[in-house]
Amino acid sequence: MSADEVRVAVIGAGLAGLAAAYELRRAGIAIAVFERESVAGGRARSGDHEGLLLEPLSPVVSSADHALLDFIAEVGAQDVLLPIRPALTAVVHDGRSVEVDPRRLRDFARMPGVSVREALRLVRLPRLLRRYGEQLAPDAPEAGAALDDRSLADFGRLYFGRSVVDRWMGPFVTSGSLGDPEETSRVHFLRRYCEHFGARRGVLRASLRELAATAAGSIPILFGANVRALRAPPGRPLVIEYLRDGKERSVEVDAVVLAVRADRARVVAAPLLTAGERDVLAGIRYTPAVTLCVRTCRPLSWHPLELSVPRVESGVAETLLLEPGMAGGRVPDGFGGATLHATGTWSAAALDAPDDALEKDLLDELERLQPGARATVDFARVLRAPLARPRFDVGHYRAIEQLTRIETERLAEGRRFVLAGDYRMDPSWNGAVQSGRRAARALLTDLGASDPRAR
Ligand SMILES: Cc1cc2nc3c(=O)[nH]c(=O)nc-3n(C[C@H](O)[C@H](O)[C@H](O)COP(=O)(O)OP(=O)(O)OC[C@H]3O[C@@H](n4cnc5c(N)ncnc54)[C@H](O)[C@@H]3O)c2cc1C
Repeated sequence: MSADEVRVAVIGAGLAGLAAAYELRRAGIAIAVFERESVAGGRARSGDHEGLLLEPLSPVVSSADHALLDFIAEVGAQDVLLPIRPALTAVVHDGRSVEVDPRRLRDFARMPGVSVREALRLVRLPRLLRRYGEQLAPDAPEAGAALDDRSLADFGRLYFGRSVVDRWMGPFVTSGSLGDPEETSRVHFLRRYCEHFGARRGVLRASLRELAATAAGSIPILFGANVRALRAPPGRPLVIEYLRDGKERSVEVDAVVLAVRADRARVVAAPLLTAGERDVLAGIRYTPAVTLCVRTCRPLSWHPLELSVPRVESGVAETLLLEPGMAGGRVPDGFGGATLHATGTWSAAALDAPDDALEKDLLDELERLQPGARATVDFARVLRAPLARPRFDVGHYRAIEQLTRIETERLAEGRRFVLAGDYRMDPSWNGAVQSGRRAARALLTDLGASDPRAR
């Protein structure tokens, strides 16, 4: 399809854009995706080295990542990525790794470092969740705005106690967001708890880039199309101005899903946005990520093992994933893989340090967490992403609520333009897919097309 036949344009072929495009296409809408790079996937992209995937991401997903798992199946990538390889979960306590898998609240009384007296106070949690009820609707993060007045650390210390915050609530949330418990909104914790507590964790069989590649295969994408601006000339459809093959081009479309990071959305869509939307987008902050990817000459664990490191134990690592190799898997058979994620705070301070200094610090941390690991390392690489994940700090859900309110009002007035991306839902692959689908549904309703899920 040429760009001129397009009715709806999706800008950005990250997971949010791909999910939106897939949904619109399934409903029979003529679409095209405009992607600046030469491959799809956005922040879920990865490289490799001699059979070892260099993923700045930890390939761990939860059985509660329904949007992501459904998307994998719908685009036909399940044979490559699923079923997930079950992962054991452990926490670091006094420098040692202790296997834990709390599935009910009473399991916390046995969790290392959590005081029994404070663990017993967790019986309050189900009561609180009943009270907050609708404010934690899974598909509507804006519903949490009224609760978005405290950090998870404040909330946790007030209701349960410091040991519960330090040893469980903090790691439970920050391992998935790299945020800081003192700043992360309690809504983020409560939503995550409702959706993910007790769910099974596991490792995808291949890199997530397989999902992006498979999805991209069924969607028309203009690669190398760098969108510079969106305009709405009076009385005419929306105009997309983009640069491709060194030429400035433009195309008229009926509607747009803008699925790029918040800072870029603010620039690209400046002429379409209200002052309120521009302010909200300007306030969205991202946390950096520094990751050490290692191949070891033998597996360090016989099962995938996800180790989370409470901040009181380290300050360097947030999580460590150990994976044994397997034929046709992400790590070659007979080898082991280790992916160590530094905390957001440590990453921010380390972002400009030279690679060899970072590699040394992170290998020291690996050795501390897995004594003897260093001697088995045959390849190591440090990866850094300055703007890895949006921060869901106190105030973020109020910002989402403001964006959603303005967007809904403007759609009703005829502005066919929707923002999508992880920053609108959850700082994860699952959140990105969910937000893309939601954006597509909003447009489908407006365009009068039926939602394929409703059929
Ligand atoms: C280092 C790192 C580690 C992570 N680890 C995990 C993890 O373990 N688990 C997890 O669930 N999530 C993880 N994430 C987060 C996850 O990758 C993101 O939440 C998700 O991929 C965001 O998808 P998106 O579609 O919202 O945005 P993006 O992936 O940023 O997609 C935006 C797309 O728009 C394109 N684009 C931008 N500007 C333009 C333009 N002007 N014109 C055309 N195209 C444009 C970009 O090239 C990109 O392809 C990690 C992220 C990073 C960076």
